[in-house]
Amino acid sequence: MKNNVQFLSMVLDSMTDHVSVIDAQGVIQYVNRRWISFGEENSQPNQCSAHWVGVNYIEECDKAAKLGDDFSIKAARGIRRVIAHQQQSFYLEYPCHSPEEQRWFMMRVTWFVSGDQEYFVISHQDISKRKKAEDHIRMLAKLDGLTNIPNRRSFNEFLHQEWQVAQRKQHPICLAIFDLDYFKLLNDTYGHQAGDDCLVKFATLLNQFADRPHTQCSRYGGEEFALVMGQTSIERALALIEEFKVALAALKIHHSHNRADRYVTVSVGLAQCIPNPLENETTLIDLADGLLYQAKTNGRNKIESASRTEPEPHL
Ligand code: GH3
Ligand code: MG
Ligand code: MG
Repeated sequence: MKNNVQFLSMVLDSMTDHVSVIDAQGVIQYVNRRWISFGEENSQPNQCSAHWVGVNYIEECDKAAKLGDDFSIKAARGIRRVIAHQQQSFYLEYPCHSPEEQRWFMMRVTWFVSGDQEYFVISHQDISKRKKAEDHIRMLAKLDGLTNIPNRRSFNEFLHQEWQVAQRKQHPICLAIFDLDYFKLLNDTYGHQAGDDCLVKFATLLNQFADRPHTQCSRYGGEEFALVMGQTSIERALALIEEFKVALAALKIHHSHNRADRYVTVSVGLAQCIPNPLENETTLIDLADGLLYQAKTNGRNKIESASRTEPEPHL
């Protein structure tokens, strides 16, 4: 460590984080090698540290903020708060996608005193790997492990969201609950693996019928599935489910012990309502559940539907 300045400069240049130091006015005093190379890779070619030193970083953030970049607004606010000692440090995660890849960075602002001057260290770290892993886990948490369609948790979230939209706009919302007929007997006849294969085929087909806006299918439980159709009339929903049943019949999944048919069939409860301001989505679930029960007792392989078009009087 003969030459401290050179040594520390080499340490900072070896870092993968992009590091700059600004003064209390926001003017850049120092940038490390990665800061420069990142600028070069991202549309600011042929730059050297001389290009950066003297640039007012906060003003650059303000300029980007004026062009509508929300993260620049947050970054400028955070840096100003650290400079004003309203907070010790500042931390911000933000997207910075390039045409080739999805990227995220984490910006951190800390400070130190040298002589009688205060300086502020701004570092940006590439956190894309972590973000992608988190997104993947979040996605997995919403999918059913067997059928790969949205799971019950996802159903709850989606229905809640669509219910609120329907409540606000006073639009109709439909829910269909599907229950495979005599599924226990299918397992008993062909084995659990054949039962699993059947559930996958059923879910894959149902998913193909859920490609409209405000529509999502999910595995509701065991051999039960749901289709939420926001902003959809009961006539449209009924036509869709009838079409689905025809497509299911065309798959001809063998079920010799199905008393309703030779192949796998399903019973469906389809309900529609226009939510009143005080009720929640369990109203719609209860309606669809009751209709499904009717479809079962009426012989299975049936759709029972009902619409509550008039909002219930306020409680
Ligand atoms: P119903 O026509 O009245 O609906 O009769 P059912 O036999 O379909 O209904 P029941 O509730 O008696 O049985 C549901 C069966 O679904 C029992 C259970 O073993 C089976 N099941 C639930 N989840 C799975 C699964 O993930 N894989 C398989 N293979 N079977 C499952
Ligand atoms: Mg069931
Ligand atoms: Mg069943």
